[in-house]
Amino acid sequence: MRHQTQAKTFEVEKIRKDFPILNRKVNGYPLVYFDNAATSQTPQQVIDVIVDYYSNYNANIHRGVHSLSQEATDKYEQARIKLQKHFNAEKPYEIIFTSGTTHGINLVASGFSEFLKEGDEILVSAMEHHSNIVPWQMLCERTGAILKVIPINLKGELIYSEYEKLINENTKLVFVNHVSNALGSVNPIKEIIEKAHANNAAVLIDGAQAAPHIKADVQALDVDFYVASAHKMCGPTGVGILYGKEAWLEKLPPYQGGGEMIATVSFEKTTYAGLPHKFEAGTPNICGGIAFGAAIDYMNQIGFDEIAAYEHELLEYATGKLKEIEGMKIYGEAEEKTAVISFNIEGLHPYDIGTLLDKMGIAVRTGHHCAQPVMDFFKIPGTVRASFSFYNSHDEIDSFIEAVKKAKMMLQ
Ligand SMILES: *Cc1c(COP(=O)(O)O)cnc(C)c1O
Repeated sequence: MRHQTQAKTFEVEKIRKDFPILNRKVNGYPLVYFDNAATSQTPQQVIDVIVDYYSNYNANIHRGVHSLSQEATDKYEQARIKLQKHFNAEKPYEIIFTSGTTHGINLVASGFSEFLKEGDEILVSAMEHHSNIVPWQMLCERTGAILKVIPINLKGELIYSEYEKLINENTKLVFVNHVSNALGSVNPIKEIIEKAHANNAAVLIDGAQAAPHIKADVQALDVDFYVASAHKMCGPTGVGILYGKEAWLEKLPPYQGGGEMIATVSFEKTTYAGLPHKFEAGTPNICGGIAFGAAIDYMNQIGFDEIAAYEHELLEYATGKLKEIEGMKIYGEAEEKTAVISFNIEGLHPYDIGTLLDKMGIAVRTGHHCAQPVMDFFKIPGTVRASFSFYNSHDEIDSFIEAVKKAKMMLQ
């Protein structure tokens, strides 16, 4: 019983006490929250920071001379530095606060219009989230650039040799997620970035699904842009980051016009503020940014290596148990994957399984997971997706397995 000793050293029971929501019941059963790939739960330490902000120093930032405004500005800029350190950006102003991953991707896609011409090529992988496909299609429509797709294999892994064949001197941009939200596959982004740079192409990595499990080092990766959302890593919704290399952020035009992003304004000419303000028009999600910093602190205190090891254990445990169920088909069996299991049971609709699991207090995702091309590849309408976080337990997996078996019996 290896997992029990490791679980003990990981102290999951102590960690679970930090998450008030884990005490609640759903449909009369204790909540089992396995929809972490959609959004994570929030620890009391982060909730306290949110309450403290609105109770004690709510004010607009960067503008007021008064004390509250300065306190809020300091805390917000401290959060930026926490994020800079976490992702190992060279400069704090290479971290742009956004409303989330989708916003970060759109910011880059919009600005890239200026750098592309007809016939230029953009590469994306076949396992992208919709938010990482649509902005590039729109960019191609605006510029005449061509979108090409790096295929995946039946295990749900990107086929690197196909990437090597697709990339050429016309490739200007490569966009790949670090971890697939539908399959959990971890992509070899270091190699992908190296290869792109050898062809003078820029790279944006969608880190939304990786950031809760893997600490990315943007300098070691030499990545041009990296995006993530707070709400998948114990922070609030409506806030995220875009990391960009300083040289790229200098070149990229502003995304939105408004307050805070300008240096001087007249009706003849407006000059833009320096980084990061050039990309932060209007009043930002001040409390969200500060709470994001607190979430990063919380996760680092537990430790990303510890989190990854424990989650891997949960993944193996649950995969083994699920495979014992007759008719079980798991999608996404990449050599390297995070704690996401997409599955179907022969003859049953994922939606029906999800609905019955909810009746037993178990939250999973069903459907195409904003990755329809992945579902098309496997020729299925959708899957049931269970995704685990470091605050989930082996006991919860046992309840989940029992519930899946029960649902299967009821539906057959
Ligand atoms: C969740 C997710 C997104 C979108 O994130 P938002 O916070 O909704 O903007 C993009 N890509 C991947 C891989 C995701 O998991």
